[in-house]
Amino acid sequence: MYLNNSKQIVIKIGSSLLIDYKKNIRKEWLLNFAKDIKELIKNKKRVIIVSSGAIALGCKKLNISKKNLKLDKSQAVASIGQIELMNLFNEIFKKSKLNLSQILLTLEDTEIRRRAINAKRTFDNLFDLGFIPLVNENDSIATSEIKYGDNDRLASRVAQISGSDCLILLSDVDGLFDANPKLNKKAKLINNVKEINTNIENYISKNISEHGTGGMKTKIEAAKICQISGCYMAIANGLIDRPINNIIQNNNCTWFLPKVSKLDARKKWIISSISPKGELIIDEGAIQALKRGKSLLAAGIKSINGKFNKGDHVKILDKNMNEHARGLSSFNSDEIVRIKGQHSSKISEVLGYVSKSEVIHKDDMVEI
Ligand code: GLU
Repeated sequence: MYLNNSKQIVIKIGSSLLIDYKKNIRKEWLLNFAKDIKELIKNKKRVIIVSSGAIALGCKKLNISKKNLKLDKSQAVASIGQIELMNLFNEIFKKSKLNLSQILLTLEDTEIRRRAINAKRTFDNLFDLGFIPLVNENDSIATSEIKYGDNDRLASRVAQISGSDCLILLSDVDGLFDANPKLNKKAKLINNVKEINTNIENYISKNISEHGTGGMKTKIEAAKICQISGCYMAIANGLIDRPINNIIQNNNCTWFLPKVSKLDARKKWIISSISPKGELIIDEGAIQALKRGKSLLAAGIKSINGKFNKGDHVKILDKNMNEHARGLSSFNSDEIVRIKGQHSSKISEVLGYVSKSEVIHKDDMVEI
């Protein structure tokens, strides 16, 4: 079983598991969840929890509604609610003698390599100290343009940067069904997803219309990140009392299996970027060269979209806009506009200064 075989597990819980529709805190549930975590720790697993709820608990404390909350106000509300969230977890987890720490991340903490490595080191040190990291997005600081916005994708990126082998998204459904389970009694839970193909995308739209939140969409985005970075991911029902134990006993959830991945940690980080800053559209000859493991040269670039700096993540697309690879650009977007289509020997002349000859070096690139 995937969970049993994992050494390091990320578990994401959503606000609706912590607070019910009457705005009552589900303490009993959290007590049972803590027992699940205790069991995992006893079995020598390292656990990271990603929990939402800062905004919901802030609203509860202020007795205001989450609806129509403007961004700047919600940042303040999150700041008030985050401490409520930690207090709640601390109070409950203490009963199971579990130690918690808090990590608040912004998008850049996972998307800038140096910061991602630093975050991994902090996770490792916390494990050594016997503490369970509890992660949330730093909602009080993040602005709408530089924000995860949903903890599903945040959790998948946390799983990747921390080198975890399994991510569990606890949700209010059993997983992904092949039809709307409320409308169709014959709807079957899909147990294993090897590839997110059009069939699966179809199922997602059926599941979305059922729940009306788009919640399945960000979960599938998270699954894509896990698949390419070599991590197992499950969507499972968190509403039941011992959700993790339930997965171990009954396996009634949807597992997304990782693609076999021999990539090193840096390349996994490159491929699972959440916010590529631009696109390079390249010709057929360059596509063939990439397939032979070559670097991307200016000569093969037809056009470019987006504004980015040197070192930023970019997507590499063919003329039909199909994605072939991702990489870190050695030039900024203005420079690429000037050198695209040029032979490498001409680059210094066009730019007026000496620079690298590859636009994306093969070591900074991963094929999809
Ligand atoms: N970070 C947000 C919070 O703590 C939640 C984001 C989400 O629901 O995915 O309220």
